[in-house]
Amino acid sequence: MWRGERTALRMLRVNLSTESLKDETIDEETAKKFVGGRGIGVKILYDELKAGIDPLSPENKLIFMTGPATGTVFPASGRFHVITKSPLTGGIGDSNCGGNWGPELRFAGFDGIIVEGKAKDPVYLWIKNGAGELKSAEEYWGLGVWDTEDRIQKELGEKRAKLASIGPAGEKLVLIAGIMNDKHRAAGRAGVGAVMGSKKLKAVVVRGERKPAVFDPDGLSRVVEKAIQKLKENAVTGEGLPKLGTPILINVINESGALPTRNFQTGVFPGADKISGETLQKTILTGTKPCWGCPIACGRVSKVTEPPYQVEGEGPEYETDWSLGAMCGVDDLNAITKAHNICDEMGIDPISLGSTVACAMELYEKGLIPKEKLGGMELKFGNPQAIVELAWRTGIRSGFGDEIAQGSKRLAESYGAPELAMHVKGLELPAYDPRGIKGHGLGYATSNRGGCHLRAYMIAPEILGIPEKLDPLTPNGKAKWVIAFQDIFSMADSLVICKFLTFALTADDLTALSNPVTGWNWSVDDFNKTGERIYNIERMFINREGFSRKDDTLPERLLKEPMPEGPAKGHVVELDQMLDEYYLLRGWEDGRPTAEKIEELGLR
Ligand code: SF4
Repeated sequence: MWRGERTALRMLRVNLSTESLKDETIDEETAKKFVGGRGIGVKILYDELKAGIDPLSPENKLIFMTGPATGTVFPASGRFHVITKSPLTGGIGDSNCGGNWGPELRFAGFDGIIVEGKAKDPVYLWIKNGAGELKSAEEYWGLGVWDTEDRIQKELGEKRAKLASIGPAGEKLVLIAGIMNDKHRAAGRAGVGAVMGSKKLKAVVVRGERKPAVFDPDGLSRVVEKAIQKLKENAVTGEGLPKLGTPILINVINESGALPTRNFQTGVFPGADKISGETLQKTILTGTKPCWGCPIACGRVSKVTEPPYQVEGEGPEYETDWSLGAMCGVDDLNAITKAHNICDEMGIDPISLGSTVACAMELYEKGLIPKEKLGGMELKFGNPQAIVELAWRTGIRSGFGDEIAQGSKRLAESYGAPELAMHVKGLELPAYDPRGIKGHGLGYATSNRGGCHLRAYMIAPEILGIPEKLDPLTPNGKAKWVIAFQDIFSMADSLVICKFLTFALTADDLTALSNPVTGWNWSVDDFNKTGERIYNIERMFINREGFSRKDDTLPERLLKEPMPEGPAKGHVVELDQMLDEYYLLRGWEDGRPTAEKIEELGLR
């Protein structure tokens, strides 16, 4: 805990096989080297997991982590991180989540939870003010996320308790299942929900009243005041995101010719405006909703009243708007919003769902999926009903949903066309076509967890001009930018703060904000070096699982098929050139940190 003196982290270790709960500490030296959140999580996984274990077996561990910033006045610190071995990729499976659950875990007295083993019957973990217990979840098994939240709160008589829970998708080991909290916030990626389901753990419920103390509260208040001013004055964090939410990007990325459309067949979507942030605001938007302690408030609240897609809930955010929209050729915002809410209730990652459905649509249009498999569904690009139907079918593994449940890589392989799955290391790519944003392609390829925009957000410099404008269509000089982003984002995920802060705040600002929290008196170099250490230990974890340069790649389409139209017309990603430079700067060979690099970072 961070109670004004430099003490260790307080962890709860829960063994579901033996039904034992144990208080543990992580010493300050380790905390200083790996910070919290993603950093501490991967360190635990690296130390405790045997290589090659089945991610859905009791040997896997599921780690919930907060960071030193979580639940303090540090802006946008209402988040937590989940770390495990991914059943979707076989590598590191980690996911970050907003909402209210992360701060509540710290208020309840713990910095993190390590879940191991497997329960005999469904259970949930209830933690209140420093004490935990396992309770039966038999009557909640099979319920959607929303009912689960309401009913467990009612059972406990704790309306303010916060739940991180799985829906039917996690229970049924859907490989693209996530863990949800506050009904709509998702630790969505890499199948973390399937790991929770494999352990028969329905929910982790937390409630507490202890505010996490920081090293220097007055010093922190002073730097927070300045940071909030910068966030207000920044065009993205002060205006764009609060006003239009993340869907503001639909038109921006489409105009750059990089909005992946119909399974990355092109980067220009004619229906973009119909699903844009601007249209969302004019039609179904009813409000906005921030995560805990966030001054940006990018979350959307929406209501569809027109049949047949009536729904009331949150979202869609940019990634879901795209994955269930342009990626599937769908321009019906009502259907996208409906499918998005079904994903939330079922506990599915909408990025992977939309990408896998798009892959299936291309397989079907190419005649590789026989019609009889589909139970009468017309699986063509542009069909809004297909995304809605497949969202719920996937959640309960019904009909063709059972095939979508395995993700795009396994699906495309099973129909003999692996090149039609748009993934890196088994994880579906997000909403940017790197043929129009070259550095972003290097970020995808070298991401430790696979296809991901949240390891290096090169959209900032290559499209938005933050902190300076780079030419998106050249591969030159991009490696150093990708590395800088990967290291600073490792720190954001380990302090556990929202990455959107980095539109306005630099590494200097984040260092200045961190020091009064931790008392570690870091320089910016210390801050960056720690991020580098975390990125490297993650890489060592996936190396041990068999990943190397051969896996730091992109789908063949992006390397060989020139973009057919728009501003990036004629472009492919020149990956090898960028990768050579990247490894040189990282101190890696064949996708692995060298012995010297491991020594230098204190990871031996
Ligand atoms: S910017 Fe958006 S995602 Fe980030 S913490 Fe704030 S509300 Fe949550």
